[in-house]
Amino acid sequence: MQRLTRLTGTIGAALLLSACATTPSPPPSPSLDTIEAELAMDIATLADDDFGGRFPGSEGEAKTQAWLAQRFGQIGLEPGAADGDWTQDFALVRRSPATEPGRVAASATRGERRVAFSQPMLGAFSAQDEANFSDVPLVGVDPDLEELVPGSLVNRALVLPASAIAKRANQLEAAEPTVLVITTEDQKTYDQSSRFFSRSRWRLENDREGMALIMISPEDSAALMETIGRNADRAPDGHGVVAYDTMLDARISQQSERIETANFIARLPGTVDGAGAVLVLAHWDHLGDECGPPDAADRLCNGAVDNASGIAVMAQAVELAAADGPFDRDVIVLGTSAEEMGLLGAEAFVADPAVPLPTIVAGLNIDTVAIAPRGEPVVILGAGETPLDYGITEVARTLGREVVPSDLQAAFLRRQDGWVFLREGVPTVMAGGTLADEEVFQAFLQGPYHGADDEVGEGLELGGAAEDAVLHAALIRYFASLRTYPGGGN
Ligand SMILES: [Zn+2]
Repeated sequence: MQRLTRLTGTIGAALLLSACATTPSPPPSPSLDTIEAELAMDIATLADDDFGGRFPGSEGEAKTQAWLAQRFGQIGLEPGAADGDWTQDFALVRRSPATEPGRVAASATRGERRVAFSQPMLGAFSAQDEANFSDVPLVGVDPDLEELVPGSLVNRALVLPASAIAKRANQLEAAEPTVLVITTEDQKTYDQSSRFFSRSRWRLENDREGMALIMISPEDSAALMETIGRNADRAPDGHGVVAYDTMLDARISQQSERIETANFIARLPGTVDGAGAVLVLAHWDHLGDECGPPDAADRLCNGAVDNASGIAVMAQAVELAAADGPFDRDVIVLGTSAEEMGLLGAEAFVADPAVPLPTIVAGLNIDTVAIAPRGEPVVILGAGETPLDYGITEVARTLGREVVPSDLQAAFLRRQDGWVFLREGVPTVMAGGTLADEEVFQAFLQGPYHGADDEVGEGLELGGAAEDAVLHAALIRYFASLRTYPGGGN
């Protein structure tokens, strides 16, 4: 997996160190019944219709942020973002691809010959609203090339038939073409691809990386290949790239929407300078008020399980742990925004972290917890990827819970905020009972998940959530203490 190499070297050493430490027995804590009742109250508040489905930038966000500041302030935490704020503000943008004549124009020139593309045409540039390209060399790639060579298409415009997109999609980011020119062989292909590329996604406004895309009609595709002529049959270079001796000019002007949102960050300061930090995170955002078909009576995405339950469990765990604090290490609480839009709050945090990422010795993500009943074992999503497995196994054992493997890791590791941190080399897992019973988990995914039915009611199972709150309180104590977890940190 990409960029995980930084982790592996430290695993052995950390395992050795933590193996020498003894695990403290957890101090007496409130009964699971009491914890369930408190979780139910917090979830009921966050998943109330009044919070509007907690969509980033909405009034529901303002209410959620106020709730988080009050809840964690009461627990005794201090604001953890820059300048003594509770929030790390950032902006999201969504750009609509340009399709109208005034918004997209492109042409290809070879010597004296020039072909100006006409409608229909689609132009998109993920990094900015406006884009202007002139004299970018058009190139092709050897269709038999297994994998595009990283960096081989910098400052090039790659001509790629729509039929080859599926094969190359995952290779393009590393190959870094400046522009992707997609040719289409018939109108049906154009229409299908057009629908696909018109689905625009939210991204961080500060994210300036991206490539431009120009998709041209079947007629223009034929004209382009005629212009390129016999250059298309040239032998590829050592990177499988064929130079067409043809230049591209293109102009794209997109309309965009913008959202201002924020991550919530709180801190329980540690007592030992330079000991590092434990990060606990859960996403506070959800899908707003557009769940289900437009004519449905209830379209509000209350997100009781996803992820009011994760926020409630995080608050409960930090409250239980903080009663025994402060610890050697800082405890950082992160309520991420825009998880549902593609883990964007987590991306915003790692791009501008409140604490240096290498000082985070353990990251614990909590997502979608109010599903499993009491008595489930613990699954570690991210097992084998960090030095944390040993400690989690020991801590779970003191609570009478066993850590078990799961077949779901491959499918879900990259679908949660912890992945963004893991990818950056921060040892981060999602541990708990949610994935322990695959049937229960799949029933949620096929049922209320991302629908108007994910709301407070009979479906909300808090037994496992209460146990996971106790587990996370114990994990915070364990990883925040130099005695029990000397590994990691400075
Ligand atoms: Zn979700």
